[in-house]
Amino acid sequence: VRERAQGDLLARFQEAWDELAEIGRNPEGGYDRFAWTEADRQMRAWFSRAAAERNMTLEQDRNGNLWAWWGEPGDGAIVTGSHLDSVPGGGAFDGPLGVVGSFLAVDELRSRHEESPPRAVAVVDFSDEEGARFGVACVGSRLMTGELDPDRARRLVDESGVTLAEAMRSAGVDDKLLGPDEARLSAITTYVELHIEQGRALADFDAPVGVATAIWPHGRWRLRFKGEANHAGTARLQDRHDPMLVFAAVVTAAREAAARHQCLATVGKALVHPNATNGVASSLQAWLDARAPDAETLNSVITEVRAAAEASANEQGVEFECYQESVTAAVSFNSDLRRRIVTLLGGVPEIPTGAGHDAGILSERIPTAMVFARNPTGVSHSPAERSSVEDCLAGVRALAVILEDLVWG
Ligand SMILES: [Zn+2]
Repeated sequence: VRERAQGDLLARFQEAWDELAEIGRNPEGGYDRFAWTEADRQMRAWFSRAAAERNMTLEQDRNGNLWAWWGEPGDGAIVTGSHLDSVPGGGAFDGPLGVVGSFLAVDELRSRHEESPPRAVAVVDFSDEEGARFGVACVGSRLMTGELDPDRARRLVDESGVTLAEAMRSAGVDDKLLGPDEARLSAITTYVELHIEQGRALADFDAPVGVATAIWPHGRWRLRFKGEANHAGTARLQDRHDPMLVFAAVVTAAREAAARHQCLATVGKALVHPNATNGVASSLQAWLDARAPDAETLNSVITEVRAAAEASANEQGVEFECYQESVTAAVSFNSDLRRRIVTLLGGVPEIPTGAGHDAGILSERIPTAMVFARNPTGVSHSPAERSSVEDCLAGVRALAVILEDLVWG
């Protein structure tokens, strides 16, 4: 019987995965499932069907997040879920593993408990987690907790000039209702999110699943370099004010500072002006993303990068400016809940992460935990991210054990 149940779980996992496989898939094999687009609509329609197949009550909250309820919605609910949108060219697992896994975990519990749960269980799909289209991540959860001002959210604009308000309206969400949802938040006892690991720590531990300890503080800085356009063939080296040289110094300094402090710093985006092969650039904009175990280390890295940039800018006669675009403070997941989960799962590894999540946003308000499924490639936000079916199912079973303890324990 047990074997059959396991076989069932595998079959249902693969069925769900097949249903999602073609939605928003681009020619390179990655996924473009941006908030409030046709691909997103299809992902959300899949969520609605998954709820209907299980006779779970479907609800769209004032911020466009989708909820599927097992049991009467009410105080003391246990919530699990993740997101169904993606970054440009994202992988199949980041987000969908948590949502599919949550429905399957509910199935596991229903096969063990005939009666309704003593407290409601909900599966949630948080809208616009990646922020790929409008630039702000975790929009659905940030609006719900009040961390994102609804007026600011409504005015966010995508690359083609469509506002978030317009995009949500065209998807059937009344943008006038956006905002904090205190009643909903206060009715939730605990939120648990299953997610593919975004590094390769679990592979090193040889463990299929692990539990998150914390999310590193992280931020984005916009860098501006202003030099002087000149002719690559006639301007003497000593007469140049080349912002590209300062940019190169910053890229190297960021890498070196990150290595010194054992954290992460990345320059992944740059715009060069006028971007000519035979010209010294006149100006340049670049973005620095930095993440560290604590705020102090993060500050040290930024201070060192700025110092290196300013020294190089002086030397080259280039103007340099650095603006902080956003910083997200460190998140420590609830330690009682974490210890309870580690014990339940028989001592799985506890690991920090540098990536932001809805669970991190909610953890400011309610006890929250994250379970990671092993990703041996260690690659994330790319089609190369991968969790084996066995590890995905290990994640589902772990989630079922946790939910069972939280609901019946
Ligand atoms: Zn994610």
